Amino acid sequence: MAGFATHPDGDHVLWHAEFGDAPRYGTARCPASSRDLLAKADWKTLVVEGLPPELADDVPMELFARITGLPAGTEYVPWDGPRARIAEHPAHAPGHAALLIEERGVLVAGDMLSDVLVPMFGDTAGPIGDYPAGLRALEAVADDVEVPGHGSVGADQIRARIDLDRAYVHALRDDPRIGPSAKPGWECPGDLHRGQAAWLG
Ligand SMILES: [Zn+2]
Repeated sequence: MAGFATHPDGDHVLWHAEFGDAPRYGTARCPASSRDLLAKADWKTLVVEGLPPELADDVPMELFARITGLPAGTEYVPWDGPRARIAEHPAHAPGHAALLIEERGVLVAGDMLSDVLVPMFGDTAGPIGDYPAGLRALEAVADDVEVPGHGSVGADQIRARIDLDRAYVHALRDDPRIGPSAKPGWECPGDLHRGQAAWLG
């Protein structure tokens, strides 16, 4: 068994003691990003604030974000399970990567390509600017795969999902109130939210 964190957001680097000593991998940038958080004196408080209150007491904090970064360019998760290709890309978070498990027809896309959440911008290199590049990277590995996770995108829906997300991102990029000046942590103004149901399709 092995774990793989698609990205360093708090809800994606949790672990449970019952998983034992299985390695926990991520891209090289994944633990590098967590290190900044763990260096803060109040990091536990910050993590708990981001968790659903009913779960916070059950999360073993000593196991939080203990991720081993794989060297840049690592092609596959080093484990003896189904071959899992690592597709690192910019967009939602630093070091975000999808896993393509071809023999199962599955793309584990972390917080990308959801049909219940709108695209969320969080990569410090340029939140909106890099998102289309992330979508292009996923498009290159999205042949005949389904995307489980936040919602469920079937193999016959994935191209449409990518197109919808791209249209959403382009609409924000081209909005004069937002555009290239958007910053990490930026939140969508209320009147833009009204269009989200349509974007989610
Ligand atoms: Zn996330």
